[in-house]
Amino acid sequence: MTNSSSDRSALVLFSGGQDSATCLAWALSRFERVETVGFSYGQRHAIELDSRAKLIDGMTALRTEWADRLGESHTLDIPTLGVISETALTRETAIEMGEDGLPNTFVPGRNLVFLTFAAALAYRRGITHIVGGMCETDYSGYPDCRDETIKALNGAINLGMARAFEIHTPLMWLDKADTWRLAEELGGKGLIDLIVEHSHTCYLGERGARHAWGYGCGECPACSLRARGWNSYISAESST
Ligand code: ZN
Repeated sequence: MTNSSSDRSALVLFSGGQDSATCLAWALSRFERVETVGFSYGQRHAIELDSRAKLIDGMTALRTEWADRLGESHTLDIPTLGVISETALTRETAIEMGEDGLPNTFVPGRNLVFLTFAAALAYRRGITHIVGGMCETDYSGYPDCRDETIKALNGAINLGMARAFEIHTPLMWLDKADTWRLAEELGGKGLIDLIVEHSHTCYLGERGARHAWGYGCGECPACSLRARGWNSYISAESST
């Protein structure tokens, strides 16, 4: 059932990180009704919930048309994902980075599960567009972030649910500095400040110290990538 109202609505996969916060602003600039979905499955749950709430409050305050467009915020519990992560399987193991550069909390195919649940929710909510922050430009090597993976899954979901969902990945071909530039285009310095202050990217699930680019341990691959992208964004800004 595709109708004009579902064509103007979107569901954003929203973890409370830099990428998904930028995707939320992107969707709010394009669609008339925007709902968000986050997934709860492990130890980062509390900090992500807090980030999501603060980012949503901040974006609502930033632009009145964004406040008008923001609809429900959903959280889906998928505890099975936590059960099959390696730290849960070997309980004495601390969270650490593997030789492949992925944290041992990594769950193979996690984005396939997220997008499938998001599509099932979008189906129920009468929403056509699904927006995710997957990116293969500076990605940490997750094969489920690749453009080819997302396109194949979009085809499988549309066949399996008999709907014409459109999965959008506005960050797919951007590096982290470009993602900061996109946020600035969408919401100016106000959005940049909000994302720096309240988004959570660190794999270790800690707020840690406040760096120029935001909070985090400063050491894990997610923090390193965010710091590098921020430095490149700032140095390009100051040279123009
Ligand atoms: Zn970190």
